[in-house]
Amino acid sequence: MTPTDLVLFDIDGTLLDTQDAGVVAYARAAKTVFGTPFSFGNVPVHGRLDSENYADAVRRHLTDVDPREYEATFRNRYAAELEAIARDAGGFQPCIGALECLEMLESRSEVELGLLTGNWAETGRLKIRHAGIDPNRFRCNAFADDGDHRNDLVPIARRAFHDAHGAVPNRILVVGDTPRDIECAHAGGAIAVGVATGIHSAEVLRAAGADLAVEDLTAGRAMFARLLDSASGAEPPAER
Ligand SMILES: [Mg+2]
Repeated sequence: MTPTDLVLFDIDGTLLDTQDAGVVAYARAAKTVFGTPFSFGNVPVHGRLDSENYADAVRRHLTDVDPREYEATFRNRYAAELEAIARDAGGFQPCIGALECLEMLESRSEVELGLLTGNWAETGRLKIRHAGIDPNRFRCNAFADDGDHRNDLVPIARRAFHDAHGAVPNRILVVGDTPRDIECAHAGGAIAVGVATGIHSAEVLRAAGADLAVEDLTAGRAMFARLLDSASGAEPPAER
């Protein structure tokens, strides 16, 4: 059976928890590349694209530096630092229920999986790998490389699905842990599923407009099964 539904997962706070390894790796990479560690303080990095976070940090910490000029160098260094942190930590922790939820979705022939994430592609895959998840399980992806803002990303994943299967998906679900995931889902005509394993509660995600919100992906597994079994295919079922 050709897949008809595309389920897109955010990475940080949704599939896995790096304990802010990304922020530490950013600081270390910036120290090496620019001689000054980036700090983010109260800057809201969650749910934003790596490309946005990097360019903003360069502008905050350095004058007369064009972020684009050093982006490739920085990305390489950032990947190396992240890899070292992951190895030292013995890997990253998958979020509660994430592995079982992915297994359930893969058992459904109508479902295709993808990543929709603010991570750059190589470091997004690195995080996934270090959480014991094969990144090749996700075939229709949209990374920070693919747009200027998160709201650009659903159409990228939709196009990847079309390229793989010759038709656009009937439904796209975006699963994420921040209001920015919800916003980008709706901007791309997708169903927004909030999961409260990041820094936001299910109430906050509902208030941000999530069509469905769950405490974790253990609850998510049952919710997905109901949603996929719902006959109409057009609307998410009422929450229970
Ligand atoms: Mg996230």
